[in-house]
Amino acid sequence: MKIAYWFRDKIIAPFLSSLFLFIVIGGGSTYSTGNWWKWFAQIPTVGWILLGVIFVIWISLIIIRNYFIRKEKESPSQPFRMVYKEKKVNQLKYADVIWVVLVSVNIENAFDLDPERITPQDLYIDIPPRCPNCETEMEQNPSILIGYSWKCIKCGFKKHNNYSFSTEAERARKIASRKLEIFQAKENHR
Ligand SMILES: [Zn+2]
Repeated sequence: MKIAYWFRDKIIAPFLSSLFLFIVIGGGSTYSTGNWWKWFAQIPTVGWILLGVIFVIWISLIIIRNYFIRKEKESPSQPFRMVYKEKKVNQLKYADVIWVVLVSVNIENAFDLDPERITPQDLYIDIPPRCPNCETEMEQNPSILIGYSWKCIKCGFKKHNNYSFSTEAERARKIASRKLEIFQAKENHR
């Protein structure tokens, strides 16, 4: 889906705008001179250079704007928890990195966390994920055009991913929830 949006915004929209400009100039030329190419021939070299510069600036602005929008989206926002504290219950490898599976537990009951009583809905995934080599928290930056670059500052592990930490964390949560469901189903049938 993201690739489709990217294609629409970066390729199709500029292409249609250019085509529109081409038709307007050509149409105007045909209407007033009877020749489609006459007005194009009258655009001086400076005009073409100017059009080129405007086009490059336009594309750059789209890319820069897109970069900051994605950066803002990814700024971490920690949910406010006062009486709950997270407890690590598991970890799983997904999208080449390690995701820590947490569960919120009430502080008063924090010491008798019963794995049988955790529901799949209680699970959530810690962001950022961990490096598969050294388990350091990964860093994320938007790539220039598409996707994100993930990096471990400790060992230098790097990876490009089309989706962000938060999108992949949600997917990891689904996998972890399903694993817990299967585990609990087995326990209940014993
Ligand atoms: Zn590492």
